[in-house]
Amino acid sequence: MKDPKEFTPEKPDLLSAVRNIVARETDHSASPIPESVGRAEEPHDGLTRSQLEQHWDQEAAQFGVERIMGVPSLRFNWRTAGVAQKRLMTFLPFYLVSRFLKCQGCSQCCRPNFLYWDKGIVLSRDEALRLKHLCKLEKRNGKTIMKYPCPLLNGKRCSHYKLRPAGCRFFPFNKWQDEATGEEGLGILMHCPAAKEFYVTVNLFMLRLHRFMQDRAEAGGDGFNFEELDGLSADFSPNKISPEDLRYMVLKAEAVR
Ligand code: SF4
Ligand code: SF4
Repeated sequence: MKDPKEFTPEKPDLLSAVRNIVARETDHSASPIPESVGRAEEPHDGLTRSQLEQHWDQEAAQFGVERIMGVPSLRFNWRTAGVAQKRLMTFLPFYLVSRFLKCQGCSQCCRPNFLYWDKGIVLSRDEALRLKHLCKLEKRNGKTIMKYPCPLLNGKRCSHYKLRPAGCRFFPFNKWQDEATGEEGLGILMHCPAAKEFYVTVNLFMLRLHRFMQDRAEAGGDGFNFEELDGLSADFSPNKISPEDLRYMVLKAEAVR
């Protein structure tokens, strides 16, 4: 387990806030992670890093890289989810990117050359209010966007990194919807040079997290806290999460009703 002190944010109340999000009862009857994932008898269990790498390569060879690769355990039904579950699923993708993405700083995600990522960065109302003083924004189909190449890009660096919108913090995740079931899920854009390793690590981590939650539920426990979440990622050589990023994740999760 990692030393929890390493993850203690600057302000103690921030840690309490994170704890409250992930420690509040997790609704095991409607787990955000499919029941099949992580069970001993299922083929998902025992997946190895090389199997996942092979899976990624096969998909890339078959479909090219203009594809979003789904992460099965990050699929859930927003309509039927409880508040605690929604909060966890809002928090988790940002956590996974901050913790595991080994970004190569190529800045390709800030430029208009991705098939699924070429329309501009869609902004929320708050983000639009925050960014309109810094760069030119455009309206498209009722949405406010920052057109590519992103006006905040300076060389290969984001000139306002701390103010970057959720879409940038989320990358290379992207939302997708199953046309048959209407279920929402998260996929990873295969264009990003760091995406393959991220896909492998996220899948392995989610298997571990799901097993942990199942064991706890079977032992009559409920939920888990932030140190435990971080402890589960200890041997993946993860990045350090800045207090700033953690604060952002907490605010996003707490905004869920
Ligand atoms: S495309 Fe991927 S590796 Fe390149 S800067 Fe964006 S997130 Fe980082
Ligand atoms: S806001 Fe920053 S991170 Fe996002 S696309 Fe623009 S330059 Fe890149």
